[in-house]
Amino acid sequence: MRALNADLHCHSTVSDGLLAPAELVRHAVGNGVELLALTDHDEIGGLDEAAKEAKQLGLRFVNGVEISVSWGDDQTVHIVGLGFDGGHAPLVEGLARVRSGRDSRAQRIAAELDKVGIHGAYEGALKYVGNPALISRSHFARYIVELGHAKEVKGVFDWWLAKGKPGYVGHPWASLEDAIGWIGGAGGLAVVAHPGRYRLSSAEMAAMLGAFKDLGGVGIEVLSGSHNEEHVREYAHLARRYGFLASRGSDFHGPGESWIDLGRLPDLPEDLTPVWTRLP
Ligand code: AMP
Ligand code: MN
Ligand code: MN
Ligand code: MN
Repeated sequence: MRALNADLHCHSTVSDGLLAPAELVRHAVGNGVELLALTDHDEIGGLDEAAKEAKQLGLRFVNGVEISVSWGDDQTVHIVGLGFDGGHAPLVEGLARVRSGRDSRAQRIAAELDKVGIHGAYEGALKYVGNPALISRSHFARYIVELGHAKEVKGVFDWWLAKGKPGYVGHPWASLEDAIGWIGGAGGLAVVAHPGRYRLSSAEMAAMLGAFKDLGGVGIEVLSGSHNEEHVREYAHLARRYGFLASRGSDFHGPGESWIDLGRLPDLPEDLTPVWTRLP
């Protein structure tokens, strides 16, 4: 049987993507996507526009969000929520709290960048922001590229914005318990985003996945724009071991800025249960 072309992880201008929600949906349809979730960072304000456009174009669409979570010793992990009720008050209020720290964090990032000769970065990053509450490192990255310090956004993080680099500022995001609780309480499914991106030892990864499962998490991204073939094998293995549903998401942010285009990932390994078997 031909696999469904599902893409359950992408961003719009409501967070750090380059396309407006409706444009993103049109791009998905153009690329042959058959099931789409928009998963903006800590924000669900783009879902209505995307759902409306998807309905008009006959594309199956589910609500999504990517929640920033602090885990362990200043680690950040991302939890994707899928198929939830966007009106659920604890989710709406919880996300507002997660977003509320971003502006002061951005000012601290700018102060750190100033010390290494990148001046005016707060104002510079703001030029790229669609939603001021969602100012993120991606927006700083675009400004640093504009200044000519790097050719493309992907190269900026390794020099300036990743953990351990001059413009990195630690931040308390949501707890794993809260993020999973908000998603589950709203009737959605919680999925670990791009596990291959975390700098966790195997023991730390096992501890994180064990806690995630105990708290009600049900899925893991096996296919992600940031996974290579080895990651796919590793996370397929962990999906089997933990009994997780498997997800597939490009993490598309915009043309020219992403590892892989919308809907252009390979198929999931056939023995895994796709997360969309449990989605509306
Ligand atoms: P923030 O939520 O402000 O910490 O920003 C995180 C965002 O920065 C991620 O969602 C990605 O869009 C982007 N990002 C983080 N690390 C990298 C990287 N190494 N290369 C490209 N983009 C990255
Ligand atoms: Mn992002
Ligand atoms: Mn992420
Ligand atoms: Mn993402």
